[in-house]
Amino acid sequence: MAAMTMSNLSITKPKISHNVAVIGAGAAGLTAARELRLEGHNVVVFERLSKIGGTWAYNPNTESDPLGIDPNRKIILSSLYDSLRTNLPRESMGYRAYPFVEAGLKDRDQRRYPGHKEVLDYLEDYAREFRVSEMVRFETEVVRVGMVEGRKWEVKWRALGKRIDVDEVFDAVVICNGHYTEPRLAYIPGIDEWPGKQMHSHNYRVPEPFRDQVVILIGSSASAADISRDIAGVAKEVHVASRSSAALGKLPGYENIWLHSMIGSAHQDGSVAFQDGNIVQADVIMHCTGYKYHFPFLETNGIVNVDDNRVGPLYQHVFPPALAPWLSFVGLPWKVIPFPLCEYQSKWIAGVLSGRILLPSKEKMMESVKAFYTKLGASGMPKHYAHNMGTYQFEYNDWLAGRCGCAGTEEWRKQMYAASSESKRIKPETYRDEWEDHEWISQAHEDFKQCGHLSESK
Ligand code: FAD
Repeated sequence: MAAMTMSNLSITKPKISHNVAVIGAGAAGLTAARELRLEGHNVVVFERLSKIGGTWAYNPNTESDPLGIDPNRKIILSSLYDSLRTNLPRESMGYRAYPFVEAGLKDRDQRRYPGHKEVLDYLEDYAREFRVSEMVRFETEVVRVGMVEGRKWEVKWRALGKRIDVDEVFDAVVICNGHYTEPRLAYIPGIDEWPGKQMHSHNYRVPEPFRDQVVILIGSSASAADISRDIAGVAKEVHVASRSSAALGKLPGYENIWLHSMIGSAHQDGSVAFQDGNIVQADVIMHCTGYKYHFPFLETNGIVNVDDNRVGPLYQHVFPPALAPWLSFVGLPWKVIPFPLCEYQSKWIAGVLSGRILLPSKEKMMESVKAFYTKLGASGMPKHYAHNMGTYQFEYNDWLAGRCGCAGTEEWRKQMYAASSESKRIKPETYRDEWEDHEWISQAHEDFKQCGHLSESK
C-alpha cells in the first residue's frame, strides 16, 4: 500500500529524460530499451552480434578452447545446443507486455515448450512490435565503461571489423550483457594428469562427436539432464556426476546412463573414480557446472565487484547504492522466469531515472544490502547463491511492481511455474509434451485476450 502511495504521488512529478546506454540486445536489453523509451529517455543499445536475441541466437560454431578458459579464445556468446527446447511453458515464459503465444504461422513452432528458434522468432516479433531494433547499434562492442566528471559515464565502443574505438558520454548505463557465456568449472583432483578430453557444456551443440565414447557429465542442472539424454542415443556410456543425485545407479528407461555422486579423482591411466566407489575409463568429461558473471568492460574503481560469483553491492540486484541510479543491472537473478523479471526491473530503472519513482538514500540501500547478505550467510548460503531466487522471485517481482505502480505477477503464472517445476522433477522425459495445468492455460489466454493481446480466433 505504501509503495502504491509513493508511486501515485510521484506520477504527478514531471519526468526527466536522460541519455541512456544499454549494453546488450538479448531478452534483458530489449525490454530495458523499450521501458526506458516509454518513460521518455533517449536510448542507445550496444550489441556485439549482428542480430537481437543474445543467448537465443543459436550458433552452431563452438569456441577454440572447449573448456572456455583461454582468455584469448574467440568468444561465442550462445550456449544453446541444437536440440534445446524451453524448460518453461511458453505462456509463463513470455513478457507481460507481449505474450508468448503460438504465432499461428506454418513455419513456426507451435509447441508449448518450443525449440530455441521459436524463442528467437518471438524476441524478433517483440523487437519489431515495439520498434526496438531502431535503437540498436549492431556489431558494436562496448570495451570500456567508466565514470567521468560530472557524474556521467563514458562508454568506449568499437564497431566490429573497423577497429576504431569511439568514446561517447551518457547520463546512465544499464548493463544487460547476460551471464551464460563465461564457464565455471568443477575442481577434479588429478585432472592435470588425466589424458582424456575436457569441455564445458557451453561448447556442446550436437551428439554426433560423442558416438561410441564414454562420457562423464558433471552437474545437475537442466543442461546436464538434457545433454545426457541427447548424447545417450549415440554414446557407449553416459555417467552423470552430481552433488544432488538422490538415486544413484542406472537411470530408469536408459541402458547406458548412470547417476553417480561427485568425481573423487581422475588418473593418468584414463580412469575416473566417483565418490560412490565406482570407477570408469572415460573419453570425455563435460562440465555442466554453470557460468560466471563477467563484466570485462566495467570500471567502477572497485565500487562494484564480483566476489565468488556475487555481483555487489547491489540494492535489490539492480542498483549499486553508491552509483545509483546511474548504473544498473538487468537480469542477474537465476532460477527465475527471466523475461518478465527483466521487464519489472527495467520499468523500475526507467521510472527511477526519470525521477518518477524514488529510491531510498544511499545509506538505507546499503543497509538493505548488508541485511540481505547477513540473512543469506545465516542460512548457510554461499555468496554465489546471492542471485539465486527460486521461490521468492514472485515476491521480488511484486515488490518491484509496487514501486512501479503496476500489477504484480499473475496468479496463473505462479501456478503454472509451480506445476511445470514439479512436472519436470517427476517426469523429466515427458514434461515438455504432457501436462495437466489446463486450468492455468485457460486463465492465461483469458488474460491475454482481456489485455487485447489475443484475438478470439487464436
Ligand atoms: P543474453 O541473452 O546473454 O544477451 C546478452 C547480450 O549482450 C548478447 O546479445 C551479447 O552479444 C551482448 N553483449 C555482451 N557483452 C557485450 C558488449 N561488451 N558489448 C556489446 N554487446 C554485448 N530462459 C527461459 O526463459 N527459458 C528457457 O527455457 C531457458 N533455457 C535456457 C537454456 C540455456 C542453455 C541457457 C544458457 C539459458 C536459458 N535460459 C532460459 C535463460 C536465458 O539466458 C534467458 O532467457 C535470456 O536469454 C537472458 O537474456 P539476457 O539479455 O540477460 O542475456
